[in-house]
Amino acid sequence: MALVSATTQNLAAGDRDTSSASGSEFFFNEAQLEQYAQQTLSALALIRHQLQQTEKPFSGILPHELAPALRDIDLEQPLGDSQAALSELAEVYLRDAVWFHHPKYVAHLNCPIVLPSLLAEQVMSAVNSSVDTWDQSAGGTLIEQKVIDWTLQRIGLPAGSDGIFTSGGTQSNLMAMLLARDSWCLRQHPDHLIKQRGLPPEAGKWRIFTSKMSHFSIQKSTAILGLGYDAVIAIDHDDHYRMDAVKLEQAIQQCHQDGLIPIAVVATAGTTDFGSIDPLQAIGDICRHYQLWMHVDAAYGCGLLVSPQHRARLQGIERADSVTVDYHKSFFQTVSCGAFFVRESQHLSHVTVHADYLNPLSAQQEGTPNLVNKSIQTTRRFDALKMWMTLRIMGAQQLGAAFDSVLALAQQTHRLLQAHPAIEVLHAPELTTQVFRYIPRPGLSDETVDEINAQIRKALFRSGNAVVAGTKVNGRQYLKFTLLNPTTCVADMEDVIALITHYGRELSRNAPLNAANQ
Ligand SMILES: *Cc1c(COP(=O)(O)O)cnc(C)c1O
Repeated sequence: MALVSATTQNLAAGDRDTSSASGSEFFFNEAQLEQYAQQTLSALALIRHQLQQTEKPFSGILPHELAPALRDIDLEQPLGDSQAALSELAEVYLRDAVWFHHPKYVAHLNCPIVLPSLLAEQVMSAVNSSVDTWDQSAGGTLIEQKVIDWTLQRIGLPAGSDGIFTSGGTQSNLMAMLLARDSWCLRQHPDHLIKQRGLPPEAGKWRIFTSKMSHFSIQKSTAILGLGYDAVIAIDHDDHYRMDAVKLEQAIQQCHQDGLIPIAVVATAGTTDFGSIDPLQAIGDICRHYQLWMHVDAAYGCGLLVSPQHRARLQGIERADSVTVDYHKSFFQTVSCGAFFVRESQHLSHVTVHADYLNPLSAQQEGTPNLVNKSIQTTRRFDALKMWMTLRIMGAQQLGAAFDSVLALAQQTHRLLQAHPAIEVLHAPELTTQVFRYIPRPGLSDETVDEINAQIRKALFRSGNAVVAGTKVNGRQYLKFTLLNPTTCVADMEDVIALITHYGRELSRNAPLNAANQ
C-alpha cells in the first residue's frame, strides 16, 4: 500500500514529462484545457468567417486549379502552430469546399446537419471512446444500445431483434448479405459454419434478388463475400421504379428450374435515383413463401420512420429479417452515422470472434456488453451519441417534420419542372429526388440531348451557383435533384431551374450541336 501511494505522489510532484521536445503540449489532458478552448474558438472563427463569405454552395474550382496549392506543402515540415495550419487549411480546403448546408446544394444524398449532431461530435471526439468493448466505453455502450432499441421500435421489429451502428449503408448492406449467406448455409447444413469452414461447394449456385434500381453496394457485397456479382439477379421495375413483385416471383421460380438456389431478396425503401419504395408487403409474402431472407435497404427512406405524415409508406418493413438505416442521410446527422438491424439477434454471431485480449467468451458469459461481438469493425466511433443528442434536444417529431418538409418541397419542385416546356420529367417523386432532362426542342438526336444535359451539370458545377447531380436511365443522360434541406425553398428551386435552362439554351445554340441536328 505504502509503495503504491509513494509512486503516485512522486508522479504528482512533477515527474511527468512536460518538456516540449517530446511534444507533450500537444496532448489533450487537463493541463491543456486552455489550449483546447483556444483552438476550438479558432476553428469556430475560421468556419464562421468562411460561412459568412460563402454565397455559393461551391467555388467552382477544378482539380488542376486546386492541386498546385497542395503540391508546395511539405508534410515533413510542420508549421508547429495551429493558427498557421488553419490559415493554410482555409486556402487548400475550406475556401473551395462543397457546402451541403447551402439551399442550392441539391445533388447527392448529403443532408444539412443539425446542431445537436455537431454538439455530440465535439464531446465524443474529446472523450474519444471506442464502442467496441465495455471497458473502452462504459456508458457509451449503453447509449448506443438504447438508440438501437429505439430504432428497432420505430421499425417495428419484435423482441429478440438487435442492431449495431455502422459506417453507413454500404457496411450495413454487407452485413445483411453476410448474415443472409451464413444463416442460409447453417439452415441447410447444421454443421457448416461459413466463418469456420469457408464457403461450401454449392455456394456458386446461391442467388440474391434485388431491383435494377437497388444500390451498387449489394453487388459489391456479394463480390466481397465470395459469391460474385453473378450471384445478384436484378429484377425489372414497374412504371414507378419499384421492384415488380410478379417478375420477382417468376425469377425465383426460374432459378429453381435452372438448379440455382435463391437465398435472399433485397428490397429498397428509397432507391438512390428515384426514391422509389419497393412493394414491401408483396416482397414479404414472397420471402415467407420461398423461405428467403428479406433485407430492406432503407438507407435513404429511413427518414419516414419518424415522419408524422408519411410513416405508413414503410409498411411491411417490420417483416424484414434485416434493415439498413443511414442516419447521415435522412436524419440530418454528420458523416458517418448508420446502423444495421436484424430480426433475430443470434444471426449476429456470424460476425463474432472472441479475442482473449479484448472480448473473451468469459465476458459474454458474465453478461458484459461488448458491442464488438456484433460488428465487423473493431475500434469504432461513438456515432450513436449524435442520434442520442438529436433525440434528447430536438426530438423525433421535429426530425420527422423536417423530412416531411423536404418531401413537400419535392412535390412543388416536380410541379415547377412539369410546367416547363423544355424539361422532360421522368417520374413523380416518391421521396425527395427528381430525375429530369432538358430538351431544347424536338428532333434532336439522343446523343445531342445527352451531351447538352451532361454539359449543363458541368457548367453549373463550374459556376458554383448550384450543385445538381447527373444519372443515366436506360443509357440516356439525365439530371437529378436530391432535396434534403428543409431551408431550401421553392424560390431557390425556381432559381436553380432558371440556371439549368439558361445553360441549356446556351449549349444548344452551339454550332456543333446544331450540326448534329439533322
Ligand atoms: C447511399 C445508399 C447506400 C450506401 O450508403 P453509404 O452510407 O453511402 O455507404 C446504400 N443503399 C442506398 C439505397 C443508398 O441510397
